[in-house]
Amino acid sequence: MSLPTLPSVAVRLLDVSRDPDAEIQDVVAVIRQDPAIAARILKATNSAYFGFRHEVTSIDRAVPLLGTTVVTSLALSFSLVEAAMTTGPMVAHYRNYWMQSVVQGVAAEALCQHSKDGLECEFFLAGLLTDLGRLAMLKTIPEEYRVVLEQVEAERMALTEAEQARLGFDHVMISQKLMEKWGLPPSLREAVKLHHSTVAELKEHEPDGPRELVRALMLASSMGDFCCGADSGPALNRLRELSSELYDFSEEQLQEFILQVRTSLDSAAELFSVNPDEVPEPEDLLAQANEHLAELAMREHMAGSQAAARSHQAELEKKELELANHRLQQQAMHDPLTRIYNRQFFDETLGREVDRARREAQPIGVIFCDIDHFKQLNDNYGHRFGDFVLQKVAAAFSAALGKSDVLARYGGEEFVVIVSQPTEKGLARLSERIRAMVQDSVIESEGVQVQVTVSVGAALAMPGRDAARLAETLVVEADAAMYDSKRNGRNQVHVRSLLSEFERRMAARVLEQRFSRWLVARNAVDIPGVSRAVLKCTPNRVRIGELAQRQGWLTPDDIQQILDDQNASKERFGEVAIRLSLLTEQQVGWMIALQQEDPADLARALVGLELLERDQADQLRQEFEASFGGQAVTA
Ligand code: GH3
Ligand code: MG
Ligand code: MG
Repeated sequence: MSLPTLPSVAVRLLDVSRDPDAEIQDVVAVIRQDPAIAARILKATNSAYFGFRHEVTSIDRAVPLLGTTVVTSLALSFSLVEAAMTTGPMVAHYRNYWMQSVVQGVAAEALCQHSKDGLECEFFLAGLLTDLGRLAMLKTIPEEYRVVLEQVEAERMALTEAEQARLGFDHVMISQKLMEKWGLPPSLREAVKLHHSTVAELKEHEPDGPRELVRALMLASSMGDFCCGADSGPALNRLRELSSELYDFSEEQLQEFILQVRTSLDSAAELFSVNPDEVPEPEDLLAQANEHLAELAMREHMAGSQAAARSHQAELEKKELELANHRLQQQAMHDPLTRIYNRQFFDETLGREVDRARREAQPIGVIFCDIDHFKQLNDNYGHRFGDFVLQKVAAAFSAALGKSDVLARYGGEEFVVIVSQPTEKGLARLSERIRAMVQDSVIESEGVQVQVTVSVGAALAMPGRDAARLAETLVVEADAAMYDSKRNGRNQVHVRSLLSEFERRMAARVLEQRFSRWLVARNAVDIPGVSRAVLKCTPNRVRIGELAQRQGWLTPDDIQQILDDQNASKERFGEVAIRLSLLTEQQVGWMIALQQEDPADLARALVGLELLERDQADQLRQEFEASFGGQAVTA
């Protein structure tokens, strides 16, 4: 959309009027360059509107009489009259725009009398220019704007509302843009910006009371709406409200004001009476060189507001999607009744954890729990009470477990737990804690109190080459162990270890050769402290073969021999090495301990947590490596 441009004479007049050094002769010189404007100013000077007694015949006389500001305002006004000339289907809309602008000019001028300061001609010009944006849209986007205006008439809508809905901007914004581009004074632009405000909004914007021009334009534009708008009812209401709030008018004074505006309108109409034939080529008004500039500015503005609207919408949609996604994920992962994880999540997580355990050469365990005689509870107290029991039991489990253990509802009244890095004893202890926690919890609802017990089974294993099927095996074995508990009288725990004799021996050895264990045994650090440090460490990924080669315990030939044997026996590397007497159990245990817990890493973590001084940590580590490494080498 391109903005209408001002005739060059008006532009130059604006420049001159802003120049503090400019003299009246400068204004005269500019006006002389446009005979049509000069003639109209002379005619205005002699009109009843100004009421000079003697006829003024030259522009040299007229300019000092009227003053620079008035002359400039008039020139600007006349330029706009010309710009508003048109024929064709839009002529009624132009006429309406023009009529309303003159009403607003006259009304603003009349309000100048009620103001403490301000020039009448300035007020008139301000009123006349208030709806400049409408003219710009009539000129530049006639098709789109006609639809808006027809909608306003048909539905008696507020103009700005219809403009915003259809175009994404309104005439107030366009007026602002134009006035900025034309270099009109900021006070005028600000007043135009505020002319549709409510009294409350105005108070917020101008807390010390509105400036004279601001309140004049608000009332003048409501007068314009009242006389020329599509919906004069609400316009009259606003006129009443504003005249009373801003000017303290009584109803009588308001009637008087309306009459005054009507009367002045006649002489103003004479002043601005335009015969289209007098205006040479009005279309030239739009063909100014800086039109492209304005077009660019406008396009940018429109693109900006549309982009802002789009990105706002996109932001909203993204948030909604994220929320829906989050909800779906929660639903997909959680059991709605007990709010703990569901079976699907358990299955996926167990698969991942088995993989991790294999990489870290750590054991992994599963606990399986089944509520005893649950069917009876349902039968005696109803299904809803049964649901309540399930929630309570789930809560008891949660309380018994640490944050790192994954608790899930496996089926009806069956629960499962994934336990990482368990020892046989540790897993048995945890299972027992779960059993006791349920037994000790009081379950009561609506006067019914019951005692509930669970049968628990657990299984642990060391993931080896058959890790792919281990997840399933662990669940099957834990379930079987749970049935052992049921058969044996319920409310008890059975643990099945899937560790081989070698793995069990090795696990014990590894445990005792870990730096953390050694530090605790030496009373160098306490258990909570060392646990925090271990959590900060990352397992060492170096393979045992490589570690052994670094230590000088195995040659490349030894390693090849072990790998060949492994292909047939499917045993672990360390196991084969021991069987072939290439490594001792102690050496293998030492290396697995190194894999699980790098002493240098742990020492760093302890220093980082300020549990040890750096020197102290280094010394302890050297001592540890000398004792165990030395043993391993000599063994
Ligand atoms: P046992 O000690 O041998 O485990 O006996 P039990 O009665 O607990 O075992 P059984 O498998 O015979 O019965 C389980 C009952 O759990 C049957 C089923 O109706 C009930 N159940 C399964 N899911 C829900 C549930 O979501 N809510 C309720 N209230 N009951 C459920
Ligand atoms: Mg069952
Ligand atoms: Mg049961």
